[in-house]
Amino acid sequence: MPATRLSANISRIQELTAVGDDKNSRKIVIIGGGFGGLFTALDLNGAGEVTLINDEDHFLFRPMLYEYLSGEVEAWHIAPDCRELIEEQAKFIRGRVTSIDLASKTVKLAEREEPIPYNALVVSPGATTNYSGVEGAEAVRASVSNLE
Ligand SMILES: Cc1cc2nc3c(=O)[nH]c(=O)nc-3n(C[C@H](O)[C@H](O)[C@H](O)COP(=O)(O)OP(=O)(O)OC[C@H]3O[C@@H](n4cnc5c(N)ncnc54)[C@H](O)[C@@H]3O)c2cc1C
Repeated sequence: MPATRLSANISRIQELTAVGDDKNSRKIVIIGGGFGGLFTALDLNGAGEVTLINDEDHFLFRPMLYEYLSGEVEAWHIAPDCRELIEEQAKFIRGRVTSIDLASKTVKLAEREEPIPYNALVVSPGATTNYSGVEGAEAVRASVSNLE
């Protein structure tokens, strides 16, 4: 996402989450710790209580997956720990979001019973591969989208 669009979106999120003047009452939940979610969390630093939820414990710098696969870099070069990247700027929860309840403004995780409340929700779970209905394509493809 271009920087200007990201910063416009950040301003919009700040507007939407403004509850009076009390920043501490703003709960901003971000689903997905990729480029979109992680950088939103970093840019929202101080705008409220920011929680980043990702189903992996690490961020993945996907453009360097080729170098990882060819042995030029190690996993730790391209997959730093989410907690280390966001430090004190946001709370990090490792978990997989299974549902969003728009009425009660909560998200549910596979790993915990208690739903997580939000005032503003950023949904940034990335994409999945579309095989365009080509039968058998998934079985023979070589995936270059994660560390496995
Ligand atoms: C090999 C490769 C090379 C690339 N090279 C370039 C390049 O050179 N330049 C460029 O601009 N782009 C490149 N891209 C594309 C770029 O990596 C993607 O556009 C970018 O990663 C998308 O970011 P994102 O935050 O939307 O999603 P992602 O990076 O996919 O992050 C989404 C995160 O959300 C998590 N998630 C998904 N569902 C849930 C859930 N239910 N609960 C909790 N967490 C969830 C995922 O595990 C993931 O960690 C490349 C991609 C690949 C695969």
